[in-house]
Amino acid sequence: MTGLAPDGGLFMPERIPVIPSAFFKNIGEMGIREIAYVVADMMLGEDIDSADIKRIVFDTFSFDIPLVELEREIFALELFHGPTLAFKDVGARFLARIVSHFGLTAEQKVKVIVATSGDSGGAVANGFLDVPGVEVYILFPSGGLSAVQKAQFCIPNANITPIEVHGTFDDCQRIAKAAFTDSELRSTDFILTSANSINICRLLPQMFYFFHAYAQLARRNPSVKDVVVSVPCGNLGNLTAGLLAWKMGLPVKRFVVANNANAVTSDYLKSGLFEPRRTVRTVARSMDVGNPSNIHRIFDLFDNDFNALSQMLGGYSFPDAEIMECMADTYSIHNYLLDPHGATAYMALKRDLADGEQGIFLETAHPSKFPRAVRDAVGVDFKKPAAAENAKCHVAKIPPSLDALKKILLAD
Ligand SMILES: *Cc1c(COP(=O)(O)O)cnc(C)c1O
Repeated sequence: MTGLAPDGGLFMPERIPVIPSAFFKNIGEMGIREIAYVVADMMLGEDIDSADIKRIVFDTFSFDIPLVELEREIFALELFHGPTLAFKDVGARFLARIVSHFGLTAEQKVKVIVATSGDSGGAVANGFLDVPGVEVYILFPSGGLSAVQKAQFCIPNANITPIEVHGTFDDCQRIAKAAFTDSELRSTDFILTSANSINICRLLPQMFYFFHAYAQLARRNPSVKDVVVSVPCGNLGNLTAGLLAWKMGLPVKRFVVANNANAVTSDYLKSGLFEPRRTVRTVARSMDVGNPSNIHRIFDLFDNDFNALSQMLGGYSFPDAEIMECMADTYSIHNYLLDPHGATAYMALKRDLADGEQGIFLETAHPSKFPRAVRDAVGVDFKKPAAAENAKCHVAKIPPSLDALKKILLAD
């Protein structure tokens, strides 16, 4: 519920429970809800009783996350079958249920802030829509989102306030973070919390589908081994969740960081120097992040040992032209339509995978969320959903400053 620690740091689990290896012997027979329940109960069982955990994870996974074979030994984990067609539905739906579970007991109003570079906004709005006692504030950068993405959180008369920030995603993230350590906001009578992946509660449920992906490989081949997972990276929430799953015992051999031209993390893996920079716009815009905050969780998971970290992680970055070319080629060769983020991860995986290994890449959003990129790269036209045409709701516009955000938070 606190979102960010009082000193501005990110929460991490005090300890990471390890799942007995016997669990992995039968994992191929389990569905995503059963797997999620076992993992969540190990992580949260001290704080929430099992029946509630079960209900929360069952409600979260109202959709499946299939693993699809794209070519020999290469699989796409399709994370886009949720209500807003991106993986962020998983974290948002789980978080909304956890917040409502604890908020109702505390009898306090909850104000949720989320900074979005694309898909978080819609997923969080959808997850929290009409949840009693909760108001949601969505910060997005001017000009940074597609019409479809905006339409997903532009919901008239809802408990959702969209706020357009005159700046970049990093500006949105910076003022959202500043709000949590602001003494005036901390002393109000409402609970202020974050729905960004700085909130550990959004990351924990993202672990479940790494286990589920492995389970689907195990179903095909019970003696599965040497699994490499490629993650299209922006703020590194997904990668952190994958690494947490690995720490809990998931048999993954290596993860691969796939970056677009915002190559902060893949460059870090080469040089050992983490150097945040200004964001540049790309076709895979949900990964346009110049200062990924979850890197600090990853440092922590490896006790700041760059050697250990770089053995577990490969990293590559790709310019827009290669992303578009990959989308076109994959469609013509495999008849599979990738979105720009999944395409980036697919390329990184192909570069990293060695003989005898099996690769999974995360297909993080449905291609129809990025109609222009798909049309330009592949020539396939998606009709704009009617909602995108009609979306009219009040959008507050503010400069990239904490004071401007505070005015809105304190007004109602
Ligand atoms: C948010 C997002 C990403 C980046 O995920 P992180 O967890 O922030 O690294 C990648 N692809 C899509 C489609 C996204 O919405």
